[in-house]
Amino acid sequence: MPHRRYANQYGLLAAALIFIAIGVGILLGAQRFITDANKVSHTNEVIAMIGAVEAQLRDSESAQRGYLLTGEVSYLADYGRSRDKLPELLAQLQTLVRDNPVQAPRVRSWSIEIERRISQMEATLGNYRLGGLPAAQRAINQDVRNASNNIRHQAEQLVATERELLAARGQSSQSSAWMLRGIALLGIPLGLGLIGWVYWLLVGEIRRRAAAELVSSESEQRLQTNITTLQRHSADLNELSRYGGMLQSCVRTDEAVRLAAQHFARLLPGVGGTLYRIRSSQDYAEEVAHWGAHALHSAAMFPLEACWALRRGQPHLHLAHDEVLACTHIDAPTIQRTPSTACIPLIAQGNQMGLLYLSSSDDEFLDRLDLAETAAEQLSMALSNLDLQERLRIQSIREPLTGLFNRRYLEESLSRELARCERRGLPLSLMMLDLDHFKTFNDLHGHVGGDALLAGFGQLLQTHSRHEDIACRYGGEEFTLILPEADLQAACDRAEAIREAVETMRIRHLGQELPAVTVSIGVASFPLHGRDGDSLLRSADKALYRAKREGRNQVVSAAEIQDQPA
Ligand code: GH3
Ligand code: MG
Ligand code: MG
Repeated sequence: MPHRRYANQYGLLAAALIFIAIGVGILLGAQRFITDANKVSHTNEVIAMIGAVEAQLRDSESAQRGYLLTGEVSYLADYGRSRDKLPELLAQLQTLVRDNPVQAPRVRSWSIEIERRISQMEATLGNYRLGGLPAAQRAINQDVRNASNNIRHQAEQLVATERELLAARGQSSQSSAWMLRGIALLGIPLGLGLIGWVYWLLVGEIRRRAAAELVSSESEQRLQTNITTLQRHSADLNELSRYGGMLQSCVRTDEAVRLAAQHFARLLPGVGGTLYRIRSSQDYAEEVAHWGAHALHSAAMFPLEACWALRRGQPHLHLAHDEVLACTHIDAPTIQRTPSTACIPLIAQGNQMGLLYLSSSDDEFLDRLDLAETAAEQLSMALSNLDLQERLRIQSIREPLTGLFNRRYLEESLSRELARCERRGLPLSLMMLDLDHFKTFNDLHGHVGGDALLAGFGQLLQTHSRHEDIACRYGGEEFTLILPEADLQAACDRAEAIREAVETMRIRHLGQELPAVTVSIGVASFPLHGRDGDSLLRSADKALYRAKREGRNQVVSAAEIQDQPA
């Protein structure tokens, strides 16, 4: 507030002026006091000098009278001494009053009167010497009395004037003293009061400034906190968008899960986490990734009803010392350790994809839960997309009637498996299967009946496949089974088993059982009958052709053809 600052300055200035005035006043007063005192002593000196002149004159008169009456010479000597001193005293008196324009002429006329009186006394003495006492007595006439009266009168006037001056000077020094006292009595308290007022203003100003500084430092701190929060938010958003972008580029589910685990570990440092996927049977949640150290462990696999989040389809928090029921897939907290946990369901397009489970002994991560939820949502979308892609991929490599792989997939996987087995020095066998007289079957039972048989055969082929085998529909009623790591003998044994199974296979169609069919199978093995997919398939096809020729419903190995060329 500027007017307050000016008030301080004006107050200080006024106080300074008052003290300067007091100083000047005291100086002037003291000087006046000294001057007055000097003048008083001067006046007293003048009065004393007048008295001294009078006394000297009286002394000389009485000595003269003593001589006149007694004739003693000693009186005459006294007279002479007193008379001789008078001029000197008068000169001194003259010097003392020379500055006073009233007294100086008076002293001069008084001196003349005194000189006149001395002359009279000298004249009287002269008469005495000439005619004795009577002659002297005659000489004392009216003039003498007048001179004495004049002298006395003038002395009284001089003294009276000096006494008036003395009174006036006394008054003046009295008033000087009063002035000094007044200055001291009024000025000092006023100055002190002003200084007190300025001090009060300054204290207020200092307090206000301190308060303002406090406010500004507080707001600075708030600003700093806001900036830090903003920076953190922006870093989080960056991280989130980077993570989102990378998730979209994932081509496999396990890749997306690994990426998400890394992201969650960075997003929530010090928090343990587990990702679960829900099995396709929709009954259990299964752990697929975990990171950090859990404050409370959760089961690796649990039924969906064990988790509140999965039951209700929304995040479920369990805070430390909270009464809310905890999920049963989480270990029960002990008395000493009651950490906070969060279950966030992974839901995309209304489908539950999995669960994100977080736990920490520090509640702080709950503040960042929205970020975790956003990241979980992104993961759910990515998983849903990848599942869809997987379904589409399966659709693109599977053949719908039999559920077996199609020819495109056969070619792809055959060269891949061949390369793998070659690398590892292992054999690979394959068989070509062709249903016997299928044309006739079609003719007798219709194309739909033929399709039912093909579907049934496809199923049979799958049940006779190991996990690593690849069963394909090569085209029409021809099938291929790739048997990685199986040698020729094992493949022939498997082919024989399939042939027998087909004999006993019964298919029901439109409420009636279709007649039994048979299958012819040609078997070839890597590296014996070919080093690449095409030559192997050709060898197997040749063996199949031989089987057809030899009467169908049999297994022929490519080795037999090599032994006895056609
Ligand atoms: P074999 O193999 O024993 O020499 O005699 P075949 O009658 O099976 O002869 P071929 O292999 O030449 O006949 C194949 C027949 O399979 C021709 C076609 O009518 C039938 N066919 C091909 N694809 C399908 C299909 O997708 N569904 C049905 N129902 N029949 C098909
Ligand atoms: Mg055929
Ligand atoms: Mg056939």
